[in-house]
Amino acid sequence: PNPIPSAAGATPALAQWFAAKAAHPDALVFFRMGDFYELFFGDAEVASQVLDIALTFRGEHQGRPVPMCGVPAASCEGYLARLIRRGFRVAICDQLETPEEAKRRKAATIRREVVRLVTPGTVTEEALLEAARPAWLLALAPAGEAIGAAWLDVSTGAFATEALPRGALAALLARLEPAEVLAPEALAADPALAPYAERIARGAPPRDGARCLAAAFGVATLDGFGAFTEAEIAAAAMAVDYVRATQAGGLPRLSPPAPQGGRGVLQMDAPTRRSLEILRDQRGGTRDCLLGAVDRTVTAAGARELAARLAAPLTEAEAIAARHDAVGFLLAAGEVRAALRAALKGAPDMARALARLSLDRFAPRDLAAIRDGLGRAEAIAAALAEASGVPPLPPLLAAALRALHPDPSPRAELARALAGTLPARIEDGGVVAPDYDGELDALRRLRDGAREAIAALQRDLAQAWGVAALKIRHHQQLGFLAEVPAAAGEKLLRAPPAAGPHAPIHRQTMASAMRFTCPALADLDRRVAEAGAQAERRERLIVQHLRRLCLDAAPGIAAAAQALAELDVHAAAAELAASGVWCRPEIVERPEFAVTAGRHPVVEAALARAGGPAFVPNDCDLSPGRRICLLTGPNMAGKSTYLRQNALIVILAQAGLFVPAERARLGLVDRLFSRVGAADDIAGGRSTFMVEMAETAAILNQAGPRSLVVLDEVGRGTATWDGLAIAWAVLEALHDRLRCRAIFATHFHELVALAGGRLPELAPATMRVREWRGEVVFLHSVAPGAAERSWGLHVARLAGVPRAVVARAETVLRALEERARGLDPLSDELPLFATPARGPGRRDAPEGEGEEAATAALHPVLAALAGLDPDALSPREALAALYRLKSLA
Ligand code: ADP
Repeated sequence: PNPIPSAAGATPALAQWFAAKAAHPDALVFFRMGDFYELFFGDAEVASQVLDIALTFRGEHQGRPVPMCGVPAASCEGYLARLIRRGFRVAICDQLETPEEAKRRKAATIRREVVRLVTPGTVTEEALLEAARPAWLLALAPAGEAIGAAWLDVSTGAFATEALPRGALAALLARLEPAEVLAPEALAADPALAPYAERIARGAPPRDGARCLAAAFGVATLDGFGAFTEAEIAAAAMAVDYVRATQAGGLPRLSPPAPQGGRGVLQMDAPTRRSLEILRDQRGGTRDCLLGAVDRTVTAAGARELAARLAAPLTEAEAIAARHDAVGFLLAAGEVRAALRAALKGAPDMARALARLSLDRFAPRDLAAIRDGLGRAEAIAAALAEASGVPPLPPLLAAALRALHPDPSPRAELARALAGTLPARIEDGGVVAPDYDGELDALRRLRDGAREAIAALQRDLAQAWGVAALKIRHHQQLGFLAEVPAAAGEKLLRAPPAAGPHAPIHRQTMASAMRFTCPALADLDRRVAEAGAQAERRERLIVQHLRRLCLDAAPGIAAAAQALAELDVHAAAAELAASGVWCRPEIVERPEFAVTAGRHPVVEAALARAGGPAFVPNDCDLSPGRRICLLTGPNMAGKSTYLRQNALIVILAQAGLFVPAERARLGLVDRLFSRVGAADDIAGGRSTFMVEMAETAAILNQAGPRSLVVLDEVGRGTATWDGLAIAWAVLEALHDRLRCRAIFATHFHELVALAGGRLPELAPATMRVREWRGEVVFLHSVAPGAAERSWGLHVARLAGVPRAVVARAETVLRALEERARGLDPLSDELPLFATPARGPGRRDAPEGEGEEAATAALHPVLAALAGLDPDALSPREALAALYRLKSLA
């Protein structure tokens, strides 16, 4: 867009625009002009493009037409939503008085001010939010090598903090998927934040953050909220400051910040989340992902809670078991579950209604949401109370039950106060029910009715004017008027009755009638209009009183809303478990892993939709002694499905859900790594292989004995021997050094030879394949052992590759196999992986020139390889070494 000119010589209204723009240079200014929000200059050029609306001109500035576009104020939310989704922020500059008020002040133009900054992370309007997703604003404050993080959801009031090492930032971002990130300059350049470039707002921690924060929550000290680090406090204060600035000083209701320090969650980095498709699939869809497959919640708040649990599964056995207890109870108590779900279905989103109420930016339906939500809470509490007995309610359900009765509760008052059908906006009137407030009733009677007064006046006028057919009618613009037939009107004009309260004043002549008023009628009209205005004021007062009642009860209402969301999740998990073969996983501290007849919920659902063959369940045993499963098998046989399904079972189990299996005993997992599927980073400019190595490096640097690693085709991105060498070394590292549980899928059948001997805890398994009437049949079942090697040629034959070519391929294969046997690193013949000290090339070699001679006999790649000690290399050095090897080949 063109640069914005200087403000010199601007009209008074345009001067206001320049002031607003100067105060919010990085926002588009929505400038209220009557019924429209208008945008000017560069803002207009950008917005007209993004919103696909006409760019025109309005007036001139410094001798040039001013580019302008506009959107109707009444329907601005849709336009705002599109801008916000594209990462723009918008400053709303509203009219703060009516044109009449401005005239009375003798001002040159109406007073306008920026009343709000709409940013992706600080919106509360339904139209701008995804119902089933949280909208996190994440604030980051650096502290040396650490970072303080605070994230809050203005739309629900949720607020949490955590201190983390800088390296863990990417994982936190992947977990939260924040709508907006607030970071100081120094952090904003961190590569982990690159994907959020458009959603970063610059900010700086306020001085004396602890005091600001304590003041915001009306407490003397933050100690009551938990133990925070300095950096967490700085980040939290920064977030609160920012929210306050976007709301022009107002602060929405927020829960006190909850430090997450003590609470362990399953660590998953960004590639792991992407590869497991937890909250969305790799194309961004929401159906073919874990959440989409297991979500049986019936409320938006429940869906948000479930998404949060899947994004951050727990790592404490007790907390997980508590969730399983709740699910198990509701699974057994089918009737209670049905009653609960029926009462939850269609329950309003109290948390978000409360946020809008607290910002005084609410509609009548938000008050109704609190009334109805609390009503549902009571119905559910009754159902739960009835169910508690033998067996007693598990602790989580008992706690929810307690939270369902907030005290104080504005429900009864709201039920009395709110009208049966509510208007869309408070300004439309009719929010408050009749019989709630005597004064309002009286004003309304006067406003609407005045019926008797009008009837009396009509009689009086008919008599005074001598027109029996006289009728008093109400007219939208002109108010009350007396209408008489045209002929009678003519007479009144020619010979008006005497002056006084009934003296006619002509207003309108129509074809067959004439309309008059008179002092008495004008007086009545004024009184009725005044009563209307007074009723409106009175109603606003009552609405504000109702809002106050809700806010005074806010902590209790928020707790009830949270309890409803959790109950929805527990009941939904039970519903899911009741729908097929799902079991309660046994969670143990030892690093065990035994799944019987496990399934992949997403693939299973897709197969069921397609109506084809059913999903084939598979066992997985990674118990001590067989911690690492080495999985071979042809493409399309189901390897990646198997890898993912076992990782997903861990996520489901530790999130507190039941799992798709007949039986599962799972040792707690602290970190989960998954590398399945294409690893491309075209945008980042790194080759597939480079990405693969970087991601493998991340695993080798972070995994430990309590981790689960699922790896697909390590080393596929490079030449065969490089690839095999890397796969080999990674497998050894997983087995010997990291000592984690792992499933390792590979095309390198050579690795199978490591089982039993060199790597005793390696258990080979393969995807079974059959040939049936000339066709390849994938059985999708996992069996012990290794894949048949000639399978590729087999397929080639089936596919109709000419017999002679297949025969030739067989010869070549045999020759290659011969050679490969010569290269078998398990035989001591060739030092493919032996360390230099043990290398046969050196064993008999004399000192000095003999050594040189021995290595000279080797291929330079092998010689260079012999000089490498994989265990001693950093991932970076390994990569450098690889490139060196490649250049030698
Ligand atoms: P691979 O990773 O070995 O190439 P995939 O895991 O991608 O194979 O599976 C290929 C297809 O096979 C899947 O899209 C799915 O339709 C089907 N499939 C995989 N596993 C199973 C299973 N256990 N039961 C039934 N069908 C399966």
